[in-house]
Amino acid sequence: MPIAETRNTNPKNLISGATGDWEVIIGLEVHAQVLSASKLFSGASTEFGGEPNDHVSLVDAAMPGMLPVINEECVKQAVRTGLGLKAKINHRSVFARKNYFYPDLPQGYQISQFDQPIIGEGEIIVEVGPDRQGEFEEIRVGVERLHLEQDAGKSLHDQHPTMSYVDLNRSGVALMEIVSKPDMRSSEEAKAYINKVRTILRYLGTSDADMEKGNLRADVNVSVRRPGEPFGIRSEIKNVNSLRFAGQAIDYEARRQIGVLEDGGVVDQETRLFDPAKGETRSMRSKEEAHDYRYFPDPDLLPLEFDDAFVEALKADLPELPDEKRERFQSDFGLSAYDTDILVSDRAIADYFEAVADGRDAKQAANWVINDLLGHLKKAGETIETTPVSAAQLGALLDLQSEDVISGKIAKDVFEIMFSEGGDPRDIVEARGLTQVTDTGAIEKLVDEVIAANADKVAQVAEKPSMIGWFVGQVMKASQGKANPQAVNKLLKDKLGLD
Ligand code: ADP
Ligand code: MG
Repeated sequence: MPIAETRNTNPKNLISGATGDWEVIIGLEVHAQVLSASKLFSGASTEFGGEPNDHVSLVDAAMPGMLPVINEECVKQAVRTGLGLKAKINHRSVFARKNYFYPDLPQGYQISQFDQPIIGEGEIIVEVGPDRQGEFEEIRVGVERLHLEQDAGKSLHDQHPTMSYVDLNRSGVALMEIVSKPDMRSSEEAKAYINKVRTILRYLGTSDADMEKGNLRADVNVSVRRPGEPFGIRSEIKNVNSLRFAGQAIDYEARRQIGVLEDGGVVDQETRLFDPAKGETRSMRSKEEAHDYRYFPDPDLLPLEFDDAFVEALKADLPELPDEKRERFQSDFGLSAYDTDILVSDRAIADYFEAVADGRDAKQAANWVINDLLGHLKKAGETIETTPVSAAQLGALLDLQSEDVISGKIAKDVFEIMFSEGGDPRDIVEARGLTQVTDTGAIEKLVDEVIAANADKVAQVAEKPSMIGWFVGQVMKASQGKANPQAVNKLLKDKLGLD
């Protein structure tokens, strides 16, 4: 099947081989676990953890005669996701059996969707970067389709010396498989794409999309070609479960294929596994074709149909998505692309920022959230959900600063105290006597002392007026950070005879 060219070659993505340049082509199949209380075709719980086989209904265990019943909430979640991906919603879709044998697949087939998926073509805008110059590049990645399918169980090989066990807790849990077009051209782009999919899913609340918990996994399709040539043969790397591994797998695989081609060989169309310990991919099996699975419509399930009203109701309830939020933050608050990207990367961070910025200087609020709050959270191993400083506390701190009750320097100190000990910023300032000194007499005394003690520097400052910064620093230090910096500056200029 020929694939339409969707992007021009960007020289910065080229990889140089021994015999010239190559371009890597990447398409991703992302499997995201649907956020729902129960499974796709049974009432069993989807709860994470729990004892093995605690959440298994007779349907999930494929007992004879059991019939699947579609979970409406999972359908809604898929439609919401389709809307979030600006994709075509198919009002009629069909569940099909994908037949294969595996010990953790009790039915002997997976119920999936084949040629009539619930969601058709869409598009995702992906910000790639920042690069060394701090710039982001915006690329558009096509979505081929999104379909609903069941997850399989899990074989446990390390529980018994001679036997394998099986845990069916995940068996039947709903997955959304989001298939991209082969529109990515570097591991950076692929990682940014996965990241963006994850952000959109979390905004929508349709998946936790947590790679560490295994509820977001990606199959990575990689091929290489000479720039301008048709696409080459791809290999598919299964079940990559972290962004870092996805990047490593792509880079390794591109290099490997270039090596094979430059040696005059051909790339096998195959399924490969990524070995994180070695940082290598290795062959698992030759690529299966659709006919290997003997797909056919599941006779136990009617085609899935819904009307416009069903879709419209879901659309009306969609939250603001990251792309729209980004635009609003840039136009309403005048924030840079860099700041906005960080703030909208997580809905909870964006909400926090908006609460702090409400009625205050947005640029200042953004700086505090990005540099101070997120920096501290990262260092402490906390997240925005577990932050010890609430948006209300940070907002109150900013107010103290803009009311000139405290200086910027003291504000940083109060933030430290709030972060480690908690408390209301106004109480902290009062209890510790951190109020800014604006009394000119008190500041003047300190200024005079500093000038008197540094006659040598006073002699130099006439030549080099920028040295005033040093004097300001000394006076601030003498006041333990409490002097009003503007007042200090003004007094020093007067006394040193500058401008
Ligand atoms: P299958 O279902 O057999 O895996 P699909 O045609 O559905 O095949 O493609 C699966 C994924 O492979 C898609 O994400 C697609 O973008 C990607 N893909 C297809 N051709 C190539 C190629 N030549 N190089 C890289 N990725 C590709
Ligand atoms: Mg595939």
